[in-house]
Amino acid sequence: MNLIILAAPGAGKGTQAEALSKHFGIPTISTGAILRKNIADGTALGEIAAKYINDGKFIPDDVMIDVVKDRLSAEDCKNGFILDGFPRTLAQAEALDASDVDIDAVLTLEVEDETIIERLSGRLECKACGSSYHKQHKQPKKQGICDNCGGELTTRADDKPEIIKERLETYYKQTAPLKTFYAEKNMLRTAVGQDAVADTTKAVLAALED
Ligand code: AMP
Repeated sequence: MNLIILAAPGAGKGTQAEALSKHFGIPTISTGAILRKNIADGTALGEIAAKYINDGKFIPDDVMIDVVKDRLSAEDCKNGFILDGFPRTLAQAEALDASDVDIDAVLTLEVEDETIIERLSGRLECKACGSSYHKQHKQPKKQGICDNCGGELTTRADDKPEIIKERLETYYKQTAPLKTFYAEKNMLRTAVGQDAVADTTKAVLAALED
């Protein structure tokens, strides 16, 4: 299955992508994670990404399209993949549409803004493996330490309150219109985000079976 997850920042894209990746046995391609890794490694792509990402701004379309085309051509994507965080603009969606990559479905997660802001402002992320936690709702067993790999937990630079607002505005302006783009192609599947991760996964699987 070649799947896109399209949702606001903090709606649970990454978490659901992880669950679906296990369920279907296919990799998740998170463009945000690719960019953060490049920033940490000090690559040329990381240098470009750093100029935008910490201000909550999008990386230019041509850069992102090349990153994703390159990643999707890898061997591990041959049996399917989950795109988490791409496309985010109409230009990116059109470039994907014009490429030789076929997409089976586009999943959107509906979550209230209030919940999103609460989730993002309490989010913690492992510096080493990218696993996500929450200061109240998903605490690690040992404070500040990742359960999965023992890495250090940190607040993402773009999860600061003023940047969260900017990211949400950018989402509604540039990414949310893609729902219409895919609905018109009859590819859009909608799941309503629930409080418990496992309940959202059930809703997601039901939406994909429709
Ligand atoms: P995410 O981890 O998906 O929330 O992405 C974090 C940040 O990476 C976004 O706020 C953007 O600055 C950047 N980014 C990720 N994917 C894209 C994309 N497809 N187009 C432009 N910028 C992106």
